[in-house]
Amino acid sequence: MKAMDVLTGLPCRQEAFSLLAFVVEAVKAQGKRLVVALVDMDRFYRVNETKGMDFGNDVLRLVGKRLYETRTEKSIVSWLGGNTFIVGMPVEDCDGIELQTVEAVKNAVERPIEVDGEELYLTSSIGATVYPRDGLTSEELICRAESALHQSKENGGNQSRFYRSEDTRKLNRRIRIESELRPALSLQQFHLSFQPVYRTCDGSLRGYEALIRWNHPELGAISPNEFIRIAEHNGLILPIGEWVLREVCRKLAKMKEYGLKDIIISINVSSVQLQHQGYPQSVLHMLGQYGLEPANLELEITESDRLYSSDAAASALSWLRGSGVRIALDDFGVGFSSLVHLKQLPIQCLKIDKSFIRKIDLNSAERIIVEGVINLVHKLGIEVIAEGVEYGEQYALLQRWGCSYAQGFLLGMPKEPDRLDPDMLKASTVAHRS
Ligand code: C2E
Ligand code: CA
Ligand code: CA
Repeated sequence: MKAMDVLTGLPCRQEAFSLLAFVVEAVKAQGKRLVVALVDMDRFYRVNETKGMDFGNDVLRLVGKRLYETRTEKSIVSWLGGNTFIVGMPVEDCDGIELQTVEAVKNAVERPIEVDGEELYLTSSIGATVYPRDGLTSEELICRAESALHQSKENGGNQSRFYRSEDTRKLNRRIRIESELRPALSLQQFHLSFQPVYRTCDGSLRGYEALIRWNHPELGAISPNEFIRIAEHNGLILPIGEWVLREVCRKLAKMKEYGLKDIIISINVSSVQLQHQGYPQSVLHMLGQYGLEPANLELEITESDRLYSSDAAASALSWLRGSGVRIALDDFGVGFSSLVHLKQLPIQCLKIDKSFIRKIDLNSAERIIVEGVINLVHKLGIEVIAEGVEYGEQYALLQRWGCSYAQGFLLGMPKEPDRLDPDMLKASTVAHRS
């Protein structure tokens, strides 16, 4: 008798894996191909969180039913637990059929779901493999579909992706980074780089943005773009963020000794840190330990869905702002950013993302948008920093549009702290650029 799953009525995980091995043998004998797709519903936790577990289970049952309806003869469909399903579908040996099959699966699970007269829209991420191209055994096909699924999630979800050999390499690297991130802090493999931010009116120094660097003894320099997301995922962002804050406070205290009291150093803060209980107090405590004014520190936050769904993050920001710490909104123009949020968040400063600045010296929509945003944001009493300024033409335009501050490779690369000290002495005499 087949082992069925009680929730979805589909064959259970173990049963599905052994059925898939049979299907592989069958397609081999018939000279066909087999598409194996892992289907993962994006952000499914939200359904359970907002509508309850019973409702979540109903949705999973419905998704299972829809997948079952897409199957052809000798196909298998199974729920693997959580919000993931597996589909194994034999297809004819002809061009483009794998893509059509996977797209049909994606469309089927993403049809709107009606709830109490409202329509619920869910998206899915799919990782797929094809027999014999991507693997010859059911185990190879499943493992590689998992790597492809992982990559499709890493790229933001809501997409289907066929396995590529680089997916396994990327997954192995991620696993290695994940396991070596924890000891990296105690092994002192991190350090900070400081990138200057200048006033456009007279070219004087506003301060620096502190950027974390990880020098791995074997893997070399690993970009924060690669490891911060992992640190957010496994909670290591909390001790890493605390280390960044301490280093910055140390630097600010040293600058104060040099007589530079008005320098602002900004640090990047993840929404995971903001949501952590006691984070705002720990920031104030650290500033106090080093005898610093809160206004010397700026926290750069990025807009994310987490920021808006969490009351803890919102109240942490208000509390910090109330205590005198500066708050800047980073990467404006990408991701979740919206003009409406400008009045909802307690920010003093907005950083326009480099992807916009890159195009302002061309005849582009970005040119019009950036000029407009600078105007509008100034009217709200918020400062603007243009980041990623690489060319003199860009700098000149920003100056013309009255953008108060600029940062980018043209003005200064991120520098190691020991190369900063001589600079600090001439900080207020940086040449005016136009
Ligand atoms: P971000 O906050 O947008 O930081 C600016 C990034 O732009 C830095 O990359 C910087 O080196 C780069 N950049 C600066 N000027 C230019 C330019 O003119 N052209 C171009 N193309 N790039 C420029 P980096 O250091 O690789 O940092 C990447 C991201 O990692 C940061 O983006 C930030 O989101 C994150 N990050 C860095 N340090 C920390 C940290 O301590 N904590 C957290 N949570 N995130 C961090
Ligand atoms: Ca930043
Ligand atoms: Ca940025």
